[in-house]
Amino acid sequence: MTERDEIGIPLLDLQAQNGPLREPIREAIERVVASNRFILGPEVRAFEEEIKRYIGVEHAIGVSSGTDALLVALMALNIGRNDEVVTTPFSFFATAGAIARLGAVPVFVDIDPLSFNLDLDQLEAAITAHTKAILPVHLFGQTCDLERLSRVSEQSGIPVVEDAAQAIGAKGGALFAGAVGAFGCFSFFPSKNLGAFGDAGLVTTNDAALARRVRILRAHGAEPKYHHALIGGNFRLDELQAAILRVKLPYLNQWTEARRKNAARYNRLFRQANLPEPVLKTPAATADGHIYNQYVIRTNRRDALRDYLLQQHIGCEIYYPKPLHLQACFGYLGYTEGRFIQAERAAAELLALPVFPELGESRVDQVAERVIGFLKRR
Ligand SMILES: *Cc1c(COP(=O)(O)O)cnc(C)c1O
Repeated sequence: MTERDEIGIPLLDLQAQNGPLREPIREAIERVVASNRFILGPEVRAFEEEIKRYIGVEHAIGVSSGTDALLVALMALNIGRNDEVVTTPFSFFATAGAIARLGAVPVFVDIDPLSFNLDLDQLEAAITAHTKAILPVHLFGQTCDLERLSRVSEQSGIPVVEDAAQAIGAKGGALFAGAVGAFGCFSFFPSKNLGAFGDAGLVTTNDAALARRVRILRAHGAEPKYHHALIGGNFRLDELQAAILRVKLPYLNQWTEARRKNAARYNRLFRQANLPEPVLKTPAATADGHIYNQYVIRTNRRDALRDYLLQQHIGCEIYYPKPLHLQACFGYLGYTEGRFIQAERAAAELLALPVFPELGESRVDQVAERVIGFLKRR
């Protein structure tokens, strides 16, 4: 392989984002070290204030991870044994895992083939007398139809818990991800658009009573300390993560804009290539306000394209290779292959390309050129 062939573009470059913030992050860490307050202190409180304004919601509760955000939100709604929670089979495992860990039953509904989000046309048919919540995911950074979701929730009386782990700052119309349901759940896992230096998450709500419940459950259900009316857990966010996230939050809008620019450029280049749809399909923007946590193309030559890109040292990843209804651990739910055709097709045909904010035009061009070149051959 010649030097010219080998370009080397990672799927995500955290150094490019965190490097320039090294000094303010170091100062934030030193502030926490000097304070000797490490759990639920002033940094967490300040971060909760700042992020709730950013998301456009009345209450924000910092928690230990996105997974724990989902778990504690479902706990706050009293979801437990044999309750049903309607959700998508095409997501990161935590979405369905949180439901099952509480003894509740994940009831899957297929996805819409354009947005890859829960198909709202099929949602109502899945609701039964046992349904205690609806758990949609704003996959890859694009919201579900938030207006329609809140209408279904109002009409049925069933609360929505939004898995907004990939959708911080995403909008659908005038509505913000995580500000529509009973709860919004966010993750600050390092590869999310706002990434911590470890695990961290957030629960949002506009309901003061629910917010209070989550705060109590976050610290073992104690209120006051050492008196437990509820069984909670250790779902606390620590001061170091909150202090680092406070440094990064003011940059989030500009990072999102850069992701959108990269995505728009890919879209333009791919459309100009004029490849027919089963060979290459760009992501459909079904909602404005996509934040492109991932830029995901669809191709019927997915595995071959991935192998080629990796060999060219271009980072790419399959989100997600196996839908949740086919995971071995959910065998007891009785779903078989062919049950959710759209989720299964997506698992076979989607590929995420680099879209991180610092990627820049020339590297977008190089990735697009390799993708198009490969798909035009043969
Ligand atoms: C990342 C993610 C989670 C889990 O968040 P963690 O912080 O890693 O626990 C949950 N749901 C979705 C859709 C995610 O992408």
